[in-house]
Amino acid sequence: MDLGIRGKRALVCAASKGLGRGCAEALAAAGVDLVLNARGAEALAETAAAIRAAHGVAVTEVAADITTEAGRAEVLAAAGNIDILVTNAGGPPPGLWSDWDREDFIRALDANMLTPIALMKALMPAMMARGWGRVVNITSQSVKAPIAQLGLSNAARAGLTGYVAGTSRQVAPAGVTINNLLPGIHATDRADSLDGGVAKAQGITIEEARQRRAATIPVRRYGTAAEFGAVCAFLCSAHAGFIVGQNILLDGGAMNATL
Ligand code: NAP
Repeated sequence: MDLGIRGKRALVCAASKGLGRGCAEALAAAGVDLVLNARGAEALAETAAAIRAAHGVAVTEVAADITTEAGRAEVLAAAGNIDILVTNAGGPPPGLWSDWDREDFIRALDANMLTPIALMKALMPAMMARGWGRVVNITSQSVKAPIAQLGLSNAARAGLTGYVAGTSRQVAPAGVTINNLLPGIHATDRADSLDGGVAKAQGITIEEARQRRAATIPVRRYGTAAEFGAVCAFLCSAHAGFIVGQNILLDGGAMNATL
């Protein structure tokens, strides 16, 4: 299917690896020029070079921490006119409800709620003026089904979800859509780190932890970044203009719910 977005320009945050990279690759495959961000310059340069070579699109790299005001300013200065925004950042660390203090919550809110909001605020006015734009926020399955040890993530992402629910209806008349993609478990470094924690706590190998988790998912495997990216690219496509303010769960059926 031609996604109808060839020649558009996308900013994909936190995109040198994992789900962000999956989104970047799928957009590039649809002919979209990219501005890519991550903190580590080396992995970012490798990803950018691989995408240029595979898809022949223009790729601008900005190595910066997207969760800081200075980092966002650097990214936005390099970004120029952006038609498609994919927000993403690392997830907060796991822990216990009684461990977290105010500073932990502020860090999580900054990274996973206030950063995407700041990027939308910066980039949507020009999208609205041009009459077309797409925003996809990478959030988490924890928005629909809480993951107890990821309380910081549950809280911050719920806040972003509430903001998007209202804001998406305000910008839709100007041709801009905002939707959230909710990953269940996907095979990325983040999943390795979570499985590593489980393995340590339970005295099992990381492979055993992975197999036990996969056994709880109806498809019996982890998702891939390529599958995730393909859904993101569709939400950013010309065909997705009637999809507004949705929270789309990609979890292999893990959440047992009728609606
Ligand atoms: P990942 O494989 O660890 O990749 C994270 C990417 O983000 C890397 O490119 C990393 O590069 C970049 N990054 C991290 N913090 C950043 C920052 N502050 N500024 C700019 N770039 C940053 O993670 P992932 O699995 O793709 O996860 C992406 C998001 O989805 C996370 O918020 C995660 O919590 C959420 N999620 C993932 C899963 C899953 O199963 N994978 C499930 C639910 C939710 P640098 O380190 O070089 O910056």
